[in-house]
Amino acid sequence: MQIDQITYLDYQATTPVDKKVLETMLPFFSENFANPSSSDHFLGWQANKAYLESQNKIADFFNADPDQIIFTSGATEANNQIIASIGKEFDIKNLVFCPTDHKSTIEPIKAFSQNKKLTALNTNLEGFIDLCHLEKVLKTGRSLVSVCVVNNEIGTIQPYDEISKIVHQYNSLIHFDATQAPCTLDLSELLEFSDFTSLSAHKIYGPKGVGCLAFQKEMKGLLKPLIIGGAQQDYLRAGTIPLPLCVGLAKAIELMQEKEPEKSRIEELRGLLFHELKDRFDFIELNGPLFEKRHPGNLNLRFNGYDARELLALMQPRIAASMGSACNSGIPEPSYVLREIGLSREQAQSSIRFSLGRFTDKDQIFKAIEVIEEALKSLKKN
Ligand code: PMP
Repeated sequence: MQIDQITYLDYQATTPVDKKVLETMLPFFSENFANPSSSDHFLGWQANKAYLESQNKIADFFNADPDQIIFTSGATEANNQIIASIGKEFDIKNLVFCPTDHKSTIEPIKAFSQNKKLTALNTNLEGFIDLCHLEKVLKTGRSLVSVCVVNNEIGTIQPYDEISKIVHQYNSLIHFDATQAPCTLDLSELLEFSDFTSLSAHKIYGPKGVGCLAFQKEMKGLLKPLIIGGAQQDYLRAGTIPLPLCVGLAKAIELMQEKEPEKSRIEELRGLLFHELKDRFDFIELNGPLFEKRHPGNLNLRFNGYDARELLALMQPRIAASMGSACNSGIPEPSYVLREIGLSREQAQSSIRFSLGRFTDKDQIFKAIEVIEEALKSLKKN
């Protein structure tokens, strides 16, 4: 089957590289290919110029200076670096997280906690953090709070400004995992509200294998490298700078800023998919928050009485969607995010996340509806 005959509804797992991003990256593989740290020749200088320009563009986007940006291999590494660095600070007493967040923050928090107290914040049925609980924890001591501002499975948009205000009021530190925030929030203001913000290129039509960590100036002294070796990136991340990837991330960010109307278009298509399906099958339910409080492309649906794995198998190869985070696929357990917001095992196992993005159109939505309808009709309800 041709790729253009498949309806891709898994943009929250990853996005295709935008052709403009790819075009920008290509010369840096074989023409301007030098090592940006080669300071003894012209090619190295040229490569270094492109590296600094990419870093500058990202810094401008975050209203920061270039020395507040580190390129990483993705958001997982950025999240690990923040937690590993701050988790070792002796005056940090608590490591605080949201249990519906991505494993790339939850697992390092558990792994690097040493003698700190770990707290999973209470959340409600829509995945929103209980701010009173947050405040109660903060009163017990200086904390590092890590929050995924937009959830990858149910799309919950956390009230990041309020969270930030409360955390700073208690002289604590806040990290935002903004990996799923593009197309939802004004990312450029996220750093202003946080001490650390992490981002990944492959969720914003950039290449896989690159992301960044942006931080407040006064946090620089607290950050430690996770990858140790050479002096690249101000000693904060050793390893040869992957120039094509850095250029790709900067271009993806630039395009994202130009695509403002994207949000309402995607939101409209998501509404169309939901209402058309709901009109046909009244047993379908929405998991997570109301549309106005979630990622515009996220539609996490519960097909009550059906097994999601069987449904997805029947939809192959015509629809690409998933039962939850790709980072947990292969784990036979149902989504921990859905379980955390109170769904039973059976309900979680009957749920599918559809996520729409830049290249989704009306035609694809109608095709998807047909395929879903066919799959539902051919499977017997439990
Ligand atoms: N955080 C969130 C919220 C994510 O959705 C993901 C990717 N699924 C990550 C972190 C990890 O990002 P990366 O793939 O760049 O390591």
